[in-house]
Amino acid sequence: MSAETYYQATSRPLPKFAKLEGSVEVDVCVVGGGFTGVSAALHLAERGYSVALLEAEQIGYGASGRNGGQIVNGYAADMSRIRHVAGLDAALQLWNMGREALADIEARIAQHDIECDFRRGYFFAALNQRQLNDLARMQRDWADTYGYAETRLIRKDLVSTLVGTDKYVGGLADPGSGHMHPLKYLVGLAEAAQSAGVRFFEGSRVSRVEGGNRPRVMTEDGEVHARFLALCGNAYLGRLIPRLHKRLAPVISCVGATERLPRDLLLSALPQDVAVSDCNTALNYYRRTPDDRILFGAGARYTPGNPGELETFLRDKMVALFPQLHDARMETAWCGQIGVTVNRIPDFGRLQENVFYAQGFAGHGVALTGLAGKLMAEAISGQPDRFNVFAGIRHRAFPGGPLRTGALVLTMEWLKLRDRLG
Ligand SMILES: Cc1cc2nc3c(=O)[nH]c(=O)nc-3n(C[C@H](O)[C@H](O)[C@H](O)COP(=O)(O)OP(=O)(O)OC[C@H]3O[C@@H](n4cnc5c(N)ncnc54)[C@H](O)[C@@H]3O)c2cc1C
Repeated sequence: MSAETYYQATSRPLPKFAKLEGSVEVDVCVVGGGFTGVSAALHLAERGYSVALLEAEQIGYGASGRNGGQIVNGYAADMSRIRHVAGLDAALQLWNMGREALADIEARIAQHDIECDFRRGYFFAALNQRQLNDLARMQRDWADTYGYAETRLIRKDLVSTLVGTDKYVGGLADPGSGHMHPLKYLVGLAEAAQSAGVRFFEGSRVSRVEGGNRPRVMTEDGEVHARFLALCGNAYLGRLIPRLHKRLAPVISCVGATERLPRDLLLSALPQDVAVSDCNTALNYYRRTPDDRILFGAGARYTPGNPGELETFLRDKMVALFPQLHDARMETAWCGQIGVTVNRIPDFGRLQENVFYAQGFAGHGVALTGLAGKLMAEAISGQPDRFNVFAGIRHRAFPGGPLRTGALVLTMEWLKLRDRLG
């Protein structure tokens, strides 16, 4: 594979967009060309706003173009934790909006005729009894509190019908969650946004933002003046906005694609076309592709490491689960940054009346980012109620200031140790 990721190698490319030069006036300037930014831009253009989207690299360069493609119900934080933090009313609304996020993906695929290998079917795998008990509790909570009763608890003796490994003590099958080729979906969404009038600029890193009635957004060679600003750079935004940076930890996760596998070998590992993730803090997640590979992802790391080591890192994890794949070659591997908040709930808000942001979807961004863009568009159009359900949740800065990476590593190592102890 000559492209950096399996997704680039198998997706139709978007046309290259020029970089921003000179001065541009629009209603809304969107910063970031991932799912959040492209969704916001598309929804805004459909509502009649003129929109310029600035992307530092290329559309899909960030997490949206390099993730595991798993479309998961709910949030990275457990719903019981969300209820505790936000209250029952907000939790019910958040659950329903999470379901809407999944439905919106299917609706966009149908509306814009996006070929992106979308499939339903998901398995949350438990590595020990504590995790299985947690899944059973989650199942009851989803059914009793939120009316979502589609999941099925899978006993150990039935795991092999879904996953060919003896490492799991059981799990939860969720036919409502699923998977897709994220870059193909993003390309389809960006094409729809372009048709709706959005102006894309690539190679246009925003280096400075000035607030006020008409925010001004500056890149090396140009600037955008807008009535509204939507900040959608997530973990890739870095230190541009210190207030947002403090509340977000960039966690590195990596994905590898095996070579094409003989059909019987592929089916011995994944007899059904479901996406799988385990319940560890640094979890493994994987799925089949339509061209008979396994996409195997693992996190969480705090440095990308030497690219040459990645294939081995991922292959070892895969073979530990599926010894039958010991001869399978990991053809390519890549990493990306996931934005994580302290409470694992997405962080939406305004820096001032007309400057919006959304970040911190953790490992649930494939579905929730589309919703984030939609809610930003609603709020900009004067309907902020649903955006405010998220914005009402309090977020804290990560402790540790300049030592924060060290503190994060220590916390992660403690959580990983707890996973190993069961
Ligand atoms: C390896 C990996 C696996 C994952 N697997 C899954 C999964 O299976 N399921 C799931 O639900 N989630 C998963 N995630 C998380 C999910 O991909 C993200 O939550 C989601 O894509 C975030 O989208 P976004 O648009 O908010 O940010 P991004 O996709 O990161 O986009 C942000 C964009 O902003 C641009 N940008 C940043 N700063 C600037 C600037 N100053 N000027 C201009 N542009 C800027 C960046 O270049 C980038 O393209 C995974 C993430 C990774 C990295």
